[in-house]
Amino acid sequence: GPALLFVKTSQGKEEGRRFYACSACRDRKDCNFFQWEDEKVSETRLAAREEYNRNHQPTFTHRQNVERYKNFVLLPLSKRRFCQECQQLLLAEEWEKHSNHQLLCDISTAQLKSPSQFLYPLENKKTNAQYLFADRSCQFLLNLIVDLGFRRVLSVGTPRLHEMIQSKASQEDFRVRSLLLDIDFRYSQFYTEDEFCHYNMFNHYFFGGEAAHETCRNFLCEDNGERVIMVTDPPFGGLVEALASSFKKLMAMWKKTGKEGQGNKEMPVFWIFPYFFESRILDFFPSFSMMDYQVDYDNHALYKHGKTGRRQSPVRIFTNLTPSMIVLPVEEGYRFCALCQRYVSSGNQHCEICNSCTSKDGRRWKHCVLCKKCVKPSWFHCNSCNCCALPNHSCEKSGSGCFVCGKAGHKRSACPSLSHA
Ligand code: SAH
Ligand code: ZN
Ligand code: ZN
Ligand code: ZN
Ligand code: ZN
Repeated sequence: GPALLFVKTSQGKEEGRRFYACSACRDRKDCNFFQWEDEKVSETRLAAREEYNRNHQPTFTHRQNVERYKNFVLLPLSKRRFCQECQQLLLAEEWEKHSNHQLLCDISTAQLKSPSQFLYPLENKKTNAQYLFADRSCQFLLNLIVDLGFRRVLSVGTPRLHEMIQSKASQEDFRVRSLLLDIDFRYSQFYTEDEFCHYNMFNHYFFGGEAAHETCRNFLCEDNGERVIMVTDPPFGGLVEALASSFKKLMAMWKKTGKEGQGNKEMPVFWIFPYFFESRILDFFPSFSMMDYQVDYDNHALYKHGKTGRRQSPVRIFTNLTPSMIVLPVEEGYRFCALCQRYVSSGNQHCEICNSCTSKDGRRWKHCVLCKKCVKPSWFHCNSCNCCALPNHSCEKSGSGCFVCGKAGHKRSACPSLSHA
């Protein structure tokens, strides 16, 4: 899909030079597309690019993969093989070609319903950063969605939530449906075009074109009162402004499908992201608030809850739903704060002065009268910096301020003295 326009700034200079780069790959090793905004591109180079793109299409189209799947499930267990190197379901006539590859054999129907359990998580690449929900967190999210009365889930970059919904729907009397939007095309092997769209959330691009757009639009249509919620868990290295712009487009799609009476309402959203992005997210979505619930992951050592001496996960749920409606599990130590009208971590103490439960990380924070706000327990007020910081910080450390104007409190990407691309 389309590239994003970035700006290269150098210290002291007001104007930066603008260039286009790949929206999805943060690492130039994954995609080396680069073009100055004002650069003239020759016909030859354009042709070479098109040629490159043609040669880098997936082996099979989504349609073909759906057909292959139909044939695959007809095979007896002993003939159901998955190539771990090619990350592909194999039909019998293809075994030969993959004879030197590691294969997974006897793929059961249950396994086919949980592809995230055997697909290799694309975690080493900055590009995909696939961190899968721990079962407890996934279950919690789904219960919450059901309890809130939603019947449709637009799963944007949440394959594990999608698969939990899909497999429940096929087993019991469970009426929730899910549509997965993800850039990971491997999922097209397991889901039809009505269940999965190949999608880039950094530029709102549907690889399946108008038909895929239409699938998404239809899904967002709340016929027979089936209410929709969007749940997204983007890679944490992702640019918040690019993500926000795509999510606004998905929200606009929802709004357009609505009958009258939707008024000023927004499509309900759960955006799962680390707490230190709170102010960035609120910049773009002032109606959102951050919940205290700590989202845990399976394949991320840092973001995993242990039973005791647990590491705290920094990942939270941001939502435009009324906070008091988001009930957090008491057995995991969350409690309701009547003053804040929301569930908070057990360690999160209500501060009388701030009139809020101020902790962001689950530990008890302390109020600093000089800063006029609550700060982390490990911080102390520093008179020379005129703010709270770790005791061993170096005062007025150079580089702590903005790279462009030198002032503290923002980074160069948010510098008010720069006009934004
Ligand atoms: N916790 C989620 C997975 C989150 S990991 C779960 O368990 O379901 C981030 C997800 O975003 C991955 O599925 C990854 O494939 C997807 N992703 C990464 N970059 C993307 C992009 N540019 N567009 C759409 N999806 C993307
Ligand atoms: Zn192979
Ligand atoms: Zn409170
Ligand atoms: Zn306070
Ligand atoms: Zn202070």
